[in-house]
Amino acid sequence: MALNRCPPGGPALITALGKLLQRPELPPDPECGPVVADLVAQVNAEDCIGCARCLPVCPVDAILGAPRFLHTVISAECTGCALCLPSCPVDCIVLHPRAAGDVAPSASDNRARFERHVAREARDRSGQAGLLAARKSTAGRQSCE
Ligand code: SF4
Ligand code: SF4
Repeated sequence: MALNRCPPGGPALITALGKLLQRPELPPDPECGPVVADLVAQVNAEDCIGCARCLPVCPVDAILGAPRFLHTVISAECTGCALCLPSCPVDCIVLHPRAAGDVAPSASDNRARFERHVAREARDRSGQAGLLAARKSTAGRQSCE
């Protein structure tokens, strides 16, 4: 299996795999498409309406904001996955190449943030279910009185 057929991983992945498997480094295979640049999301502050729709869709919680306030992307935590773009009703989130000197998050950091995101969502769902059950129980008691 060739080690040079993953455009998102690019040369860095080829180098890492080559070292791990002790195989020669090859240039990225052009048949697989162009190497994807390291992208990062940015919110256009003039257009953000503070709707907060972008917050839950970010798998690594790299967006900071609250309802009715300007939102912003923490570039050091953004993976450039683009999942937040469709959620924005005013199209004010854009992807651009990561600035020189702006270090991308590591795979292990991404994994840890994603796991925290999933755990928080599970807690939120459980809390909402508990609240709903308590309200139903209260409503049931009141209707019997
Ligand atoms: S591009 Fe991905 S990681 Fe970055 S802010 Fe948007 S959803 Fe989060
Ligand atoms: S979805 Fe767009 S408009 Fe809404 S808070 Fe996020 S960046 Fe701002």
